[in-house]
Amino acid sequence: MKGRKIVILGAGESGVGAAMLAKKHGFEVLVSDSGAIAPHYKAQLQQMGVQFEELRHTEAEILAADEVIKSPGIPSNAPLVQALKQREIPVISEIEFAKRYTNARTICITGSNGKSTTTMLTYHILKNAGVNVGLAGNIGQSFAAQVAASDFDWYVLEISSFMLDDMYAFRADISVLLNITPDHLDRYDYKMENYARSKMRVLQNQTEQDAFVYCADDQEIIKALKNIEVKPKQYPFSLTQKVQEGAFLEQNELFININHQELFTMSISELALQGKHNIHNSMASGIVAKVIELRNESIRESMGNFKNIPHRLEHVAKISGIDFVNDSKATNVNSTWYALESMNSDVVLIMGGVDKGNDYQMLKDLVQSKVKAIVCLGKDNKRIHEAFEDDVEVIVNTFSAFEAVQIAYHLAKKGDTVLLSPACASFDLFTNYEDRGNQFKLAVKEL
Ligand code: ADP
Repeated sequence: MKGRKIVILGAGESGVGAAMLAKKHGFEVLVSDSGAIAPHYKAQLQQMGVQFEELRHTEAEILAADEVIKSPGIPSNAPLVQALKQREIPVISEIEFAKRYTNARTICITGSNGKSTTTMLTYHILKNAGVNVGLAGNIGQSFAAQVAASDFDWYVLEISSFMLDDMYAFRADISVLLNITPDHLDRYDYKMENYARSKMRVLQNQTEQDAFVYCADDQEIIKALKNIEVKPKQYPFSLTQKVQEGAFLEQNELFININHQELFTMSISELALQGKHNIHNSMASGIVAKVIELRNESIRESMGNFKNIPHRLEHVAKISGIDFVNDSKATNVNSTWYALESMNSDVVLIMGGVDKGNDYQMLKDLVQSKVKAIVCLGKDNKRIHEAFEDDVEVIVNTFSAFEAVQIAYHLAKKGDTVLLSPACASFDLFTNYEDRGNQFKLAVKEL
């Protein structure tokens, strides 16, 4: 039996949710944040009568915990986390904690790119089919807060590798792994295998009764699968090979085959989410829906009428015959690759920002064939100039979304697309990717 003192590190959405659930179950709770706590979270903690501190971590109090729930934003090599581990005080994620207090079944979606889109689409399909389902994880309201206050039968959870790192006994009924491409390597000793191992934790504790849905076109996944024993039933999806059970394409028709069920078919032109990467996402969501035995007709309808979340290949407007697309969420090279790949016209590409050690090599072919000009939007654009100076005639620097849109508009011609798909984080000029996308949309509307 664990003791009764729980310390929660980080007073964001997950920390405050965990505090609510811990309080409900009678624990002594302390929330500690080294930064300032947002006023609305502070108000919630006060209202619940939860003890908290901000702008500091009082080590003596924290080291007296029986168990610690850590925000995924705090790296595991932070001195305080190391001190806890030395004393063998368990450090877990909010997801791990919340799962102890619910019998609801879970669908856990992870990957380097496409998590939010696939999580939202899966939730949309289940909800439309009448399933009593909640949406949580890296998205919206925390899992713990919902476990404390609601009574869902199913949860669709968006799970990052940072969350997985602090999950131990958690078992997903259905796990989904979309892709593994380099990202956040700074938190994994710059070793791809460490990052991949972290992603594979989505499979941990799964049994023969569970399901594992994954992208068979992703070489890193295939490689990682060779090194582990996979217990759950496997449902691969692929754009290039016909799989036995899972999802595949044949002449622009998407098929999902789950043994003993009616075959699911849908033309890819009818999918609400367009672009190759989104076929992967639709396949993953569709398999989940079939595994829980929803009706084909209902799945087809939901995959056709889904409205994507903003900032992911979001069509903003057509002005003087030029399409403006906001893909501000593309904060790494891989997602920009998919954005360019899905373009059917000449592109003026707005890119740049905080470069996390990007390797632009993989973009070169697409840039040569589709991009007529690059408009850099970042404080330091040297690496983009170096990467593409031989591929594109025009590369200009801009320092605001307004300036970038004005210049891109002048460089584009009727029939072209102005695409904001930065391949970089946004923190040099913007608060976050949403702010960058919103400023881009505003600037487009002012044209
Ligand atoms: P995440 O939550 O994993 O960051 P999002 O769904 O928010 O993923 O999408 C992030 C970016 O990745 C967007 O630019 C989107 O167009 C792109 N993207 C979405 N799905 C995929 C995929 N399956 N593979 C590669 N890129 C993708």
